Amino acid sequence: MGFIRTTWEIIELLLNNEKTKIINVIMSCKNKRLKAFIFPRWTRLPINYVAHFKNSDKTIKPGSSEMAGLIITVDEDVYEYSTAKNVRESMDYISTSRDDLQFICEHLNQGIKDTEEKFAKEFLFLEKDIDGLWKRGINNGFVKEECMKNIESKSYENGLIVVQYNRGRKHIVSKSKVEKRSKGEELCPYCIQEEGREDYPWNNYIVSANPYPYYDHHIVLVNQKHIYQFIDADEIKVMASFVLNVPSYSVVYNGPPGTSILGHMHFQAGRYFLPVEKAETSVLVSDGNLKVSELVGFFTRGFVVEKLL
Ligand SMILES: [Zn+2]
Repeated sequence: MGFIRTTWEIIELLLNNEKTKIINVIMSCKNKRLKAFIFPRWTRLPINYVAHFKNSDKTIKPGSSEMAGLIITVDEDVYEYSTAKNVRESMDYISTSRDDLQFICEHLNQGIKDTEEKFAKEFLFLEKDIDGLWKRGINNGFVKEECMKNIESKSYENGLIVVQYNRGRKHIVSKSKVEKRSKGEELCPYCIQEEGREDYPWNNYIVSANPYPYYDHHIVLVNQKHIYQFIDADEIKVMASFVLNVPSYSVVYNGPPGTSILGHMHFQAGRYFLPVEKAETSVLVSDGNLKVSELVGFFTRGFVVEKLL
């Protein structure tokens, strides 16, 4: 199992190391290239935002998209503060240092093996079904489309950093929180059946539209069981299977404690462009159609496992 095995080996090593155990993973499959971007971190919040605002709500709470260069905020002050310098400083701070990642490079020096993997399209209508789910969610009002309106954005360093201000989202999300609190509904949001939500069972997961989207076709894949956020080789296979069958989407995993709903295992997916895909990489090891590279000159550090299909 070349791609899955190699990706899991790297992640397993990272999870067992104090300085690399918070991880974000993004998987995509574009132009016949199946890619896993793995971002190791040692801490959750960027110190420069915390020091500047002295308010734990006024910061970037980096998830996978932030680690990949797309900073999304619902706060105008945070948007203003997010200059190229401040973003670079914040992401550089939370990323594991290059020295502390050396053990992964040493492990990879032992070589990787590109073995035969079954990567066929098994779910022929998945992309069409998921697109339909999203459209119906918008039509019946379950997806609050206003979350994606009046979005302002700025980009730096030839598009390697994109900062996006979703001004419509804040008001909608805080209003809904107050309503839920008054109804005593602050239980696991994935376990309660929200009105208008359409559930699509797939591969031990339930796919549904995100009611408060950050980006186009923002969906969630929620485990059929209420189990804690985790990742293993099987879950990596689920991510790969998803993007192989739904190639216009990218799928992300946010490892604890870097996600807001830790109690229930989930992935997020959507159609968005990730600046990291333009970042320079340097190959560490390769075999056949499989290779592992590291990001070079990008403001977060990370590894890219890539298989040419
Ligand atoms: Zn749950």
